[in-house]
Amino acid sequence: MKTDVYECIIIGGGAAGLYCAAKLARSYYSGKKILIIEGGSRVGAKLALTGSGRCNLSNTEIDPSKYNTDDPERLNSCLNRYGSTDTVDFYENVLGVVLEQKGELLYPSTYKSSTVVDALRFYLADNNVEIVLKERVVSASHSDGIYEIKTQSDKKYLTKNLVIATGGSTYPNTGSDGKGLDIAEKLTDSTCIVPFKPALTSLTSDIPGIKGLCGIRCKGDVKIVDGEGTIKAHSKGEILFTKEGGISGICVMDVSDSAVRLIDEGDKNVKAIVNLTGRSAGVILQMIYIRRQMYYHRTCSDALSGMLLRNITDFVMKKMGLKSDKMTLRELDDNQLAELSNLLCAFPIPVKGYGGADKAQVSSGGFKLSKLDDNMQVKYRPGLYIIGEAVNCNGICGGYNLQWAWTSAALAAEGIAQSV
Ligand SMILES: Cc1cc2nc3c(=O)[nH]c(=O)nc-3n(C[C@H](O)[C@H](O)[C@H](O)COP(=O)(O)OP(=O)(O)OC[C@H]3O[C@@H](n4cnc5c(N)ncnc54)[C@H](O)[C@@H]3O)c2cc1C
Repeated sequence: MKTDVYECIIIGGGAAGLYCAAKLARSYYSGKKILIIEGGSRVGAKLALTGSGRCNLSNTEIDPSKYNTDDPERLNSCLNRYGSTDTVDFYENVLGVVLEQKGELLYPSTYKSSTVVDALRFYLADNNVEIVLKERVVSASHSDGIYEIKTQSDKKYLTKNLVIATGGSTYPNTGSDGKGLDIAEKLTDSTCIVPFKPALTSLTSDIPGIKGLCGIRCKGDVKIVDGEGTIKAHSKGEILFTKEGGISGICVMDVSDSAVRLIDEGDKNVKAIVNLTGRSAGVILQMIYIRRQMYYHRTCSDALSGMLLRNITDFVMKKMGLKSDKMTLRELDDNQLAELSNLLCAFPIPVKGYGGADKAQVSSGGFKLSKLDDNMQVKYRPGLYIIGEAVNCNGICGGYNLQWAWTSAALAAEGIAQSV
């Protein structure tokens, strides 16, 4: 029996795989046989979860410095060639999705990620892109310019161009379990691969009392400092104390990558230096002095309750060995008041662990960008393309990761079309 040879097979029907197929079907490749092989029972499972179900699909101020990759120069050129305006154009004018801007963040105007998944799904159906569901690809080999793909149910598919769009290793219940990278490694070699690690995740600590802060949010900033005291990452925003005993929130997730790497390298003294007030220590000290005069008769927790959550005051004063519910501010000398304001603005939280694959929003690591050409094709493996989170390129929160999925997918589609 003769097996059909596809022009292009895409492994993985996530954000990048769907977009790549749509771009191929649209501009470059109309009428050619394109197939998506998806391991899950539906496409876009992770895409449906994004932005808390609202899908923050891009950002008007995409900045290459907000990504972590082995090849920042190539990333810069990729984002210049296909950036957020190109994404907006494709969504609005081809897929028919109306977008809305909230600050820098771009969403579908319905604020529903299903709008985005459906638009991609419908477009692929309209353009006869085949989709096979519930088939996990287990291996791929290459001979005489043709890739042979085998699935877990022992089916075989042949293609001239193979796109690996299998995502990272987080939220494995969406189908992205990191094993897709093994397929890429077997077709190339281990020097192309940076192992996946959780990024955009929470940090945990064993510091006494931290679990008591569970559910508390404060607006401030966080710095990740290594065992030598060097600041490795810094971000501003809302900090959320978690039930596991630790910190999360967008600003913590944005710097978590650095903490994860330090911990995994064996640094036992990683700290998150957290400003719990959003103000400078000098300003906080003045605010405390005013309250010492006005509310000299109250306990410290009560006297500061108009400017700080009681749990925060108690937590910080406990670190100083003081009882906030027993002492008044008048009982603290000038040095203690200065120490209190310094701690409120730079509280050192020893970081002992991080949220694993089931908690992290993206993975760092993947196929090295430096081993790909300008169109995401593996440099010495014609016809093999790697896109999306499977590439060693991860960004901060705010639409950066989906923009990378769209950018890499569009560039791969362009490259494949040029090869015909
Ligand atoms: C909770 C959450 C919220 C997020 N919110 C945002 C956000 O608002 N904005 C943003 O920019 N980013 C967000 N992200 C990140 C974003 O979802 C990812 O960066 C993006 O989905 C990556 O797209 P991808 O196509 O590379 O991978 P995925 O979307 O993970 O798709 C990979 C697909 O490949 C399939 N697959 C894997 N291996 C195989 C195999 N061997 N055979 C067949 N199929 C296979 C998987 O089943 C999966 O469907 C969020 C992530 C999470 C988890």
